[in-house]
Amino acid sequence: MSGHDFPGGFEGSYLGRREVLKPHSRLECKICWWVYDPAVGDPTWQILPGTPFADLPSHWRCPNCDGLADQFLMLPDAEPDSEPGPAGDL
Ligand SMILES: [Zn+2]
Repeated sequence: MSGHDFPGGFEGSYLGRREVLKPHSRLECKICWWVYDPAVGDPTWQILPGTPFADLPSHWRCPNCDGLADQFLMLPDAEPDSEPGPAGDL
């Protein structure tokens, strides 16, 4: 079997691939643990509540530590009746 290795990434990091994000996905800054919640938005950047992470401006950074958006980590879905997610071995 020819493997399909992850290129140095680690689980939970979306690596800037915004297409894997869901509209309600929350993401956590891996530097300072600040969490972006789409339901809340980001008053610091004047991001309105209901704005998905994927719709943030490309120059958006962590309002707490100024970290890049690409280093945010997806938090697991809390909704029990949604899909199990890609945590398996696919
Ligand atoms: Zn941060």
